[in-house]
Amino acid sequence: MTEIEVDHLIIGAGFAGLCAAIKLNESGERDFVVIEKDSDVGGTWHINTYPGAECDVPSQLYSYSFALNPDWSKVYSPQQEIWDYTKRVADSSGVLDRFVLDTAAEESHWDAERQRWIVTTSAVGSGARTTYAARTLIAGSGGLSEPSLPDIEGIETFAGHTFHSARWDHDVDLAGKRVAVIGTGASAIQLVPEVAKVAGRLDVYQRTPNWIIPRNERHFSTLEKTVFRYVPGAQRAVRASVYAALEARVPAFTRFPKAMAAVEAQVKRNIAKGISDPDLRAKVTPDYRAGCKRILVSNKWYPALDRDNVELITDGIARVTSTGIVAQDGTEREIDVLIIATGFHVTDPPIAQHITGRDGHTLADVWSKTGMRAYKGTTIHGFPNLFQLVGPNTALGHSSMIFIIESQVRYVVETVRAMRRDGLGAVEPTLAAQDAWSDAVQRRMRRTVWTTGGCASWYLDQFGHNTTLWPGQTFTFRRQLSRFDPDKYDVTALSTVPSDKGTPTAKEAVSA
Ligand code: NAP
Repeated sequence: MTEIEVDHLIIGAGFAGLCAAIKLNESGERDFVVIEKDSDVGGTWHINTYPGAECDVPSQLYSYSFALNPDWSKVYSPQQEIWDYTKRVADSSGVLDRFVLDTAAEESHWDAERQRWIVTTSAVGSGARTTYAARTLIAGSGGLSEPSLPDIEGIETFAGHTFHSARWDHDVDLAGKRVAVIGTGASAIQLVPEVAKVAGRLDVYQRTPNWIIPRNERHFSTLEKTVFRYVPGAQRAVRASVYAALEARVPAFTRFPKAMAAVEAQVKRNIAKGISDPDLRAKVTPDYRAGCKRILVSNKWYPALDRDNVELITDGIARVTSTGIVAQDGTEREIDVLIIATGFHVTDPPIAQHITGRDGHTLADVWSKTGMRAYKGTTIHGFPNLFQLVGPNTALGHSSMIFIIESQVRYVVETVRAMRRDGLGAVEPTLAAQDAWSDAVQRRMRRTVWTTGGCASWYLDQFGHNTTLWPGQTFTFRRQLSRFDPDKYDVTALSTVPSDKGTPTAKEAVSA
């Protein structure tokens, strides 16, 4: 098996991995490879092709700060537009020559003597294996990438078509079919209104209702787009105002959950507008504080549930048979297609099973005992030179993840710069630094709506801790990550273990 030495190995070519590649390249770190298991860049926006897929963060903020897009068509962008945007940015950034697509990272372990991550990859289809020996491992595989499948009795016996919302099967024609959707989260509320238009009958299985605010569906006018393109600073000013408006919501999430009553009143008006049947209104009205689960955005969800061919089932699922779904009340509804919209593995990310640290333990082993913990959500004790993008307590319930990703990538670049300058071969946060940071985050969680709001959510781990969200303003997060802080790290000088002679460079290896 070939071994390729690179300075940096980046896993994932979504917003995070692409940003890391571009910013490392700009900083002069050109010896890297990006491994992507899918056939193109774009990550979640390449993979999630379900009908109705759109972003629920305003377009003006859902882009890189260094690559504004004056051509967004709408206030909230559709999936295809965002995917196209990532492809354009990747094309124009001059880094694509170091991307290896259709290749999955299998196993990674830290070799302390060589001060390198040894990463084995396999090509999708052929299974051909390659080994990389990288100074840093930058994991950008996404917090919402691995579908979580429900553990429902008999689900494997269903004889019709079954697929997850994030693995949409476009070969299945839903026209006139009897379709069931399990789940009523962010993905389901976008796909259900589209499926309802074509399906003969649609059964929607809701476990918990969500708070759903109206969505601004406005298209940008030609004049606006022209101004964004040609008037210096105009688009940045709009972006800044969107950013500020979203940040203004943070105190309601983190310190004053009672302020969410205003959101709840707005949603109730949305329900009254969209649904005529009082029983159905009651079924879709949550009994927990708004914000406890992610607040969703849609004008189409309530009217879709109000359609004659759609039924909202709230009795719970007893089991799935080969021909349909049996609800807890014993009613069996026959279906042709089962769509699973039950979300993703978030607090138990599968990639953690494949990363083995300094002591021979996998990240999954470590986190199964402690919950997800990292220093500043990015570096991890026991895992030198590993950078986890979109790591523990970095996700947002109120604003754009791209802001967080750029903050983390800045930290990666600063750390790599410091390593070069100071001749360091390994940097690893001390346990004390990691614990202090994580404990402070958990203390701040106590007053938040995610803890006090009276709901169960995928933000919480098996210990009931919210190890997913950042409980503060995003500019605070950015400030914390603005420079490498060596006093919080165990650092080791670059070892003199010679590298294997004759190993190809990243560019040579990719083009081979
Ligand atoms: P999700 O929000 O986790 O929703 C999963 C749904 O499935 C929930 O309604 C959940 O009910 C239900 N469910 C889970 N297990 C179940 C079971 N065993 N039986 C019955 N129901 C079950 O997943 P998602 O909708 O895919 O969205 C995930 C995240 O992706 C979002 O929160 C968001 O961050 C992101 N996303 C973003 C956009 C966007 O526009 N930017 C669009 C789609 C998704 P409970 O509520 O009772 O758990």
